[in-house]
Amino acid sequence: MERVFNFSAGPAMLPTDALQRAKDELLDWHDCGMSVMEMTHRGKRFGSIVEKIERDFRELLAIPDNYTVLFLHGGSRSQFAMVPMNLLNGASSAAYAITGLWGDLSAQEASRYCNINEVVNTKDSRCTSIPDAPDWQPIHDNDAYLHYVDNETVNGVEFANVPASHGKPLVCDMSSNLLTRPVDINKFGLIYACAQKNLGPAGVTMLIIRNDLLQCKALEFTPSMFRYKEHADKQSMYNTPPTYPWYVSGLVFEWVKEQGGLQEMDKRNRAKSDKLYAFIDGSDFYDNPVRVSARSRVNVPFTIKGGDPDLEAAFVKESEEQHLMNLKGHRFVGGLRASIYNAMPMAGVDALIDFMMDFEKRHG
Ligand code: PMP
Repeated sequence: MERVFNFSAGPAMLPTDALQRAKDELLDWHDCGMSVMEMTHRGKRFGSIVEKIERDFRELLAIPDNYTVLFLHGGSRSQFAMVPMNLLNGASSAAYAITGLWGDLSAQEASRYCNINEVVNTKDSRCTSIPDAPDWQPIHDNDAYLHYVDNETVNGVEFANVPASHGKPLVCDMSSNLLTRPVDINKFGLIYACAQKNLGPAGVTMLIIRNDLLQCKALEFTPSMFRYKEHADKQSMYNTPPTYPWYVSGLVFEWVKEQGGLQEMDKRNRAKSDKLYAFIDGSDFYDNPVRVSARSRVNVPFTIKGGDPDLEAAFVKESEEQHLMNLKGHRFVGGLRASIYNAMPMAGVDALIDFMMDFEKRHG
C-alpha cells in the first residue's frame, strides 16, 4: 500500500528511508543472523550501534565535550519529575515559564517537590504568544533553575530565541523541535526530548546535560532509576534499555545527516510552515490564532470559521479519505492541527493545502 501523509503530533511520521533500512535489517543485522531486537545490550555488536548513535547525535547538535548524552526511557513526562528531583540541589523553588499545555503540566508535576516561581504564564491569553523576556517576572535568587518548553506541541507556539536565564541553569523541554534546527547547546544546563516526533520511535528519551549538573544532590527519596548520575555512570544502561527504539533513532540520525544536517532541516521546516501559514492567513475560512512571531515551525493549529465543530469533524473525515491523517487538534484545545516535523515532505504540505482549498470551495 502507498504510504499516507501522517500529520500526527506523535508518534509521528518517520523518514521512509530509515524505516526501509530497519526493514532490510530486521531479521539479520549485518550478517550476524539475528535482529537488533534480539541482541544483548552488553555485547560488542550493540555496543558498536550505540557508539555510532551517540557520535551522530553529538555531531548533528555540535554537543560540547562538557555535556553528557543520556538515552533514557519514560518519555518527557518522567522528566517533569526527574528535573526537580535531580536539580533542586537543596533549593526550595524553581522558575517555570508557562507558554502552553506542556509547560503547565511540567510545573504542576514539579510543584510536588518545590515552590514554583511562574516567571510567565500565558494561559489567560490562551497561550497564543510568547511575551518578551523583559516583561517576565524576575527569577529569584533561590530558584534552582529556569524551565521552559521550546515548542509547545499543542498550542503551536515556539520560542524564536533562547531566553536569558540570569545565571541559573536553563532547562528546556525540546520534545517536539529537537533536531529541527541548530541549537547553541552551551546556553543550556539540560535539554530533554521524547523521541516520537523527530528523533525516532516512542520509547527513548534523549537528554543532554552539562556535566557539573550531574553533581547536584538528588532529593533523598529519588529512586535509582530516576537519578541522572546513576544513568550517566552506567552509560544509560543502568537497566535494560529499549534497544530497538535506540537503533531506529540511530537510523533517523543518519538520515538527518545525509539530508544536510540541522541547517537543512531548519530551511525545510521554515519553507513548509511559511507556506501553510501564508495559505491560512490568506483565507477567511481558516484561522490560526498564534501571534506571527511565536508561531511554531512544526505544529500548526488551525480552526475553521472560528471553530465550527461540524465543519471540523467533516474536515477530519474527508481529509482521511484523501490519505491526510491525524489532523484533529489535541483533545485539550480542539480544532485542527498539522504537525509537520522533519520527516514530513513538502509534498505533504502541498497535498494538505490542495485539500484545504477544495474543502473550502465545497463548504465555504
Ligand atoms: N513535552 C512536550 C513538548 C510534548 O509534546 C510531549 C508529548 N506530546 C510531552 C512533553 C510528553 O511526552 P511523553 O508522552 O513522551 O511523556
